[in-house]
Amino acid sequence: MKNFEEMNRRMVEKLIAEGVLKSNNVINAFLSVKRHLFVPKTYIEEAYVDTPLPTANGQTISAPHMVAYMTELLKPMKNEKILEIGAGSGYQAAILSKLAKFVYTIEIDKQLCEFAKYNLKMANISNVKVIWGNGTEGYVNKMPYDKIIVTCSTPQIYDAWIQQLKNNGKLIAPVGTTICQILTEIEKDENGKIKKKEHIPCVFVPIRVVER
Ligand code: SAH
Repeated sequence: MKNFEEMNRRMVEKLIAEGVLKSNNVINAFLSVKRHLFVPKTYIEEAYVDTPLPTANGQTISAPHMVAYMTELLKPMKNEKILEIGAGSGYQAAILSKLAKFVYTIEIDKQLCEFAKYNLKMANISNVKVIWGNGTEGYVNKMPYDKIIVTCSTPQIYDAWIQQLKNNGKLIAPVGTTICQILTEIEKDENGKIKKKEHIPCVFVPIRVVER
C-alpha cells in the first residue's frame, strides 16, 4: 500500500513553493482531499503528479495546479452555494466542498456523472450534489449562486450563468477556442453590473453544446 497521504503532502508543498497555493483554508482543503480516490484505477500511481489525467470518454481530471489556481481565484466561503459546470471526476467539487456550504455540479456525460458520484461517496463528502444535465443552461432549481466555476472550455459566457449568479457574486471560466483559453473572471456588483478580468492562458476539454 502506497503512502498516499505523504505523496499528497509533497504535492501540496510543491504547489505552495510554486506560489499557486497560498491561503491556509485552500491548503487545508488540498490536504484533506485524497486525489487518488478521483482518478481511474489505472492512473492511481500518478494521482499526486501535477498533471491532468484521463477520466473517461476523452475527458480529463484537471491538473492540481489548475484546481489550486481556480480555487484561490474563486475564494469560496463557508456560507456559500457554488455551481460547477463539468463535474468530471468530482475532485474540484470535493475541494470546494471543504471551503463552501454546498456545491452543485453538473455533468453532461452519464458515465462521468456516476463516476463523480461514486468518488465523492468514497471520499465521504455529502455536501456536493452531482446533476446529470447540460451545463450551458446552468442549474435553475437551486439558483442564485454565490459563485460559479466552469471547468470545461467555453466559447462564451452563457446568459444562464450570469442570470443564476447573485449580485456580488463571482464566476470563473476558461473562455476561448477549443485550442487555448484565457481564465476569465466575471464579477457582478451589488447593482448587477458585470466586470470582466482576464488571468492566465489555459487548456481545458471543450464544453459540449447541445442543440435543443
Ligand atoms: N472538474 C472536473 C474536470 C472537468 S473536465 C474534475 O475535477 O475532475 C470537463 C467536464 O465537463 C467533462 O467531464 C465533460 O464531460 C463535462 N462537460 C462538457 N460539456 C458539458 C456540458 N455542456 N454540461 C456539463 N458538463 C459538460
